[in-house]
Amino acid sequence: MKITAAVARATHAPLTLETLDLEDPRDDEILVRVVATGVCHTDMVVRDGLLPTPQPVVLGHEGAGIVMKVGRSVRKVAPGDHVVMTFNSCGACPSCADHEPAYCHEFFPRNFFADRADGTSAISSDGELVHGNFFGQSSFASHALCHEVNVVKVPNDAPLEIMGPLACGVQTGAGAVMNALKVTAGKSFAVFGTGSVGLSAVMAAKAVGATTIIAVDTNAERLAFARGVGATHTVNPKTASAADEILAATGGGVNFALDTTGLSDVIRTAVLSLAPRGICGILGASPMGSEINLDEVHFMSGGRRLIGIVEGSSDPDVFIPLLADLHAKGLFPFDRMIRFYPFEKINEAIADSESGLTIKPIVRMGLACFTKPPHGAGQA
Ligand SMILES: [Zn+2]
Ligand SMILES: [Zn+2]
Repeated sequence: MKITAAVARATHAPLTLETLDLEDPRDDEILVRVVATGVCHTDMVVRDGLLPTPQPVVLGHEGAGIVMKVGRSVRKVAPGDHVVMTFNSCGACPSCADHEPAYCHEFFPRNFFADRADGTSAISSDGELVHGNFFGQSSFASHALCHEVNVVKVPNDAPLEIMGPLACGVQTGAGAVMNALKVTAGKSFAVFGTGSVGLSAVMAAKAVGATTIIAVDTNAERLAFARGVGATHTVNPKTASAADEILAATGGGVNFALDTTGLSDVIRTAVLSLAPRGICGILGASPMGSEINLDEVHFMSGGRRLIGIVEGSSDPDVFIPLLADLHAKGLFPFDRMIRFYPFEKINEAIADSESGLTIKPIVRMGLACFTKPPHGAGQA
């Protein structure tokens, strides 16, 4: 079938909207009409060639849409179901068997190689190979093929247009707090970086009842936003030492810290902000080969811990519906970060994300069944 998709053909260049050919779903594939897709930082990292994803490629990995057609062996969803498309996994390795697909032994090839596991692509342009299956979906497109392991059903009355970011950025920040660090009521938590991932972490910390929630960023506007969604304290490292401020605010350090920046100096500060027995999570995508430098005696003597976190350690089949439910009950207002763009303005959406103008852009494919904008969401 003919589809419209945004294609990355060169690094640091705008995506081009093109008419492409998409194969019919294979027996184990699911065809989804994409209603809307979130723009995630990882799309830009890959567009710019910082990870080994081949081009030309259709990016996009926070897709939400409606199932159109399923292969013969698909049981999990049926045509008409409303779904979000999350990260891909193999479904068979020891991590997948333990319901920890974010740590799938094949996470990297299944998500970043942008082809099917057998090396083929379902997308082409007049016979020219275009890589698809990015994060098992390539959802910067009117239609996408995905798999049972990375499709998650959401209620048909849920606001589908805003659901896509639950599949990556929002799940990453909220899951870091709720699944990986396991922040609980009455604890203290500090997040370094207030992009969509860090702000999702703030909202999750509030939702679980953390009583001291500290947001650290150099962007004063974002700090104000963080206060509006649950931060009890904010620190701007331009004007104060983040570690000193956090130690003072908590009387000796936070129970949990989260770095979303991937910057070694910031990670060092996050660990220095921990109370004895505190845990720091890191989830930023740094260039390959980046190293971390810690104060060894401080780290060791307090029994502190540092853990890597991917996709919020989420089991998406469980966690995405949970977040959707918290949102429906008004306890997780992630839609406040969203601004909508029409699909043809996808490069503007990316530019606004990179400049910080928009916290979480979502591109709408123009085929939406849900047309009422959610409360508080803006429109570009
Ligand atoms: Zn696996
Ligand atoms: Zn992402």
